[in-house]
Amino acid sequence: MDPPLATLTDQIKRLARELGFACAGVAKVQPMAADAERLQTWLAAGYHGSMDYMAETAEVRADIAHPKLLADARSVLVLATPYAHARPTSGLEPGRVARYAQGRDYHALLYDRTRPLKRLLRAHGASARACVDTMPALERAWAVRAGLGFIGKNACVIVPGVGSHLLLTLVVTSAELVPDTPIEERCGSCRLCLDACPTGAFVAPRVLDARRCISYLTIEHEGGIDDELRAGMGSWLFGCDACQDVCPFNRGKPSEAELSQPFAALDRWDELAAEDLLRMDEAGFDAYSRRTPLRRPGRAGMARNAAIVLGNVGDKRHLPILQQSAERDASPVVRDAARWACRRIEARTQPNESEDEELDRRVRLAAAKAG
Ligand code: SF4
Ligand code: SF4
Repeated sequence: MDPPLATLTDQIKRLARELGFACAGVAKVQPMAADAERLQTWLAAGYHGSMDYMAETAEVRADIAHPKLLADARSVLVLATPYAHARPTSGLEPGRVARYAQGRDYHALLYDRTRPLKRLLRAHGASARACVDTMPALERAWAVRAGLGFIGKNACVIVPGVGSHLLLTLVVTSAELVPDTPIEERCGSCRLCLDACPTGAFVAPRVLDARRCISYLTIEHEGGIDDELRAGMGSWLFGCDACQDVCPFNRGKPSEAELSQPFAALDRWDELAAEDLLRMDEAGFDAYSRRTPLRRPGRAGMARNAAIVLGNVGDKRHLPILQQSAERDASPVVRDAARWACRRIEARTQPNESEDEELDRRVRLAAAKAG
């Protein structure tokens, strides 16, 4: 082993920890034939739904040394940042926001954190480029190769001792760093995550049909959501943590460092209720969602999600605002979701005629017997 390379690798990993990354691993750039094939099979099945960018970038995604990324890439530094310890049920009551989205938008923050790493690599004559969802790459596959963790049956990267509530960042470089050794998959016979999915989105362990996944439906998907999937959304307004929250690898207690990390839940989620999303105009939503992940689905997407959540919660108190949205919202998608929610609440709260008839029949029968 070349001592200078080992030294540079150690320096890089030490600096990564000083910068706030909880874990760092290195993978050697090699062809990813098996991962590329898995991606193609997944795309061919249509599991990516309307995420056309996944298909459009498949070739680049499977080749980190693609000229559009970094043609002289030799190593990938994979960094993980835990976000797990935001409040598990925080956000716009009675709705819920997935843990990773409860804090400020993380892209710029993590990207900025990689700057000293890139500077160090460049000072050693290497090229370097960072990726925080900012270029097409198979982040989870690289995390496995870099020995950071394994892919659980819930399709998430699991770092033993840390869990799966992680944000992944890549630094691709032409430096030949010392690679780490991948670890074995450790799910064993467990299948808690597969059974916990409220919409049955797992086609098989590690194979997710995004079209049925609440994360995709509430964040990426524009337009209406199938009636069949609406009830399964429960109270999820943005994203879903169900298949991670049941995982035994996520049961660890947060460290002080994790509790004070910059992705802590924002107080603003406690200031409003889910129904307020139905009252907001574009300008109001723009101000409310600024610098947060909730911006992505836009005003209409979040109002649609809120209507479905209120329909699932089934509280008559929400009928007036839902009726108003069903009649007047600018978006046909929101109007449709609000109409569905009204019907659902009314169906739940109206007396059930067949039950009443059955009760009458029993009363008459009992009276006849007694008489
Ligand atoms: S995020 Fe939720 S909906 Fe998506 S696969 Fe996991 S449990 Fe299912
Ligand atoms: S819940 Fe069980 S099967 Fe699913 S990822 Fe965690 S350990 Fe693996």
